Amino acid sequence: MNDTIKHKGLRRQLIQLLRDKGIQSETVLEAMELIPRHLFMDPSLVNFAYEDQAYPIAADQTISQPFTVAFQTELLDVQPGHKVLEIGTGSGYQTALLLELGAQVYSIERQQLLFKKTQRLFSKMGLRPKKMIFGDGYLGMPTEEPFDRIIVTAGAPVVPKPLLNQLIVGGKLVIPVGVKKQEMIRFTRTGATTFDQEKFGEFRFVPLLENKTGPIN
Ligand code: SAH
Repeated sequence: MNDTIKHKGLRRQLIQLLRDKGIQSETVLEAMELIPRHLFMDPSLVNFAYEDQAYPIAADQTISQPFTVAFQTELLDVQPGHKVLEIGTGSGYQTALLLELGAQVYSIERQQLLFKKTQRLFSKMGLRPKKMIFGDGYLGMPTEEPFDRIIVTAGAPVVPKPLLNQLIVGGKLVIPVGVKKQEMIRFTRTGATTFDQEKFGEFRFVPLLENKTGPIN
């Protein structure tokens, strides 16, 4: 698929901007420099792919702002081989970044349209998550637990308990929590029933929807 010198140049500039805005992990920045964000965008917005903005994708959802993706991924501290669960596949951009970092990726999306579209994109691009499911992220993926890392890419009104329970001891959950705006929280599991909690400032996400709040497709 098409990734030109022009795209690469724009990407380099975006990565420098993220560095200037405070992203420190060179591992994350280098991986983002390799991912052609324009391929994950709605075709009508492709010219904006290397702006540091969120943009609409299908089904009233958004591809997250690159700064937010970099920030969350830095907090997640992914190591090669980690088993990572992602809630909110959306465009698949974050999924691709996790794969680039060497993770084994499991991802859940509740919008059938996006789920199918992103699956098609991944097979075209040769990207291979371990498992993608069309389902409810509030439940996590009990058949595949435990996970080293869990990342939620939609605003959660509450922290879903199953996600905490599906972490290994020492594992981390990065989740934006709140209704109108969200606070970025990182939980680290320290024991069977104990978790550390760190807070990292305010962000704005589309909501993590509960199944009961509407039809799923
Ligand atoms: N990280 C993706 C998507 C961000 S938007 C990207 O950058 O493209 C958040 C995504 O979470 C949307 O695709 C939305 O449909 C999905 N979502 C919302 N509630 C969900 C739930 N309960 N379970 C799984 N996915 C959910």
